[in-house]
Amino acid sequence: MEKIYSNVIIKKGGPYSLYCTSCHRWIPNTANYEMLKEGCFAHNHFCVNGENLTPNDGGINEREWEDENN
Ligand SMILES: [Zn+2]
Repeated sequence: MEKIYSNVIIKKGGPYSLYCTSCHRWIPNTANYEMLKEGCFAHNHFCVNGENLTPNDGGINEREWEDENN
């Protein structure tokens, strides 16, 4: 099944507070202070079928991050 939209969730234990379950990539939260206070989040990430279409999202691939931290 084709995954058109990235599925970004709040996840702990990584370099950033957001994580894309579609392409397994950690994504920085770009929400402003007011949004964070309300528990909202924002990001610049977008992918199709697990392929990152936004290389400037500032995120990091999960495997790359694990390699750097092992
Ligand atoms: Zn993604």
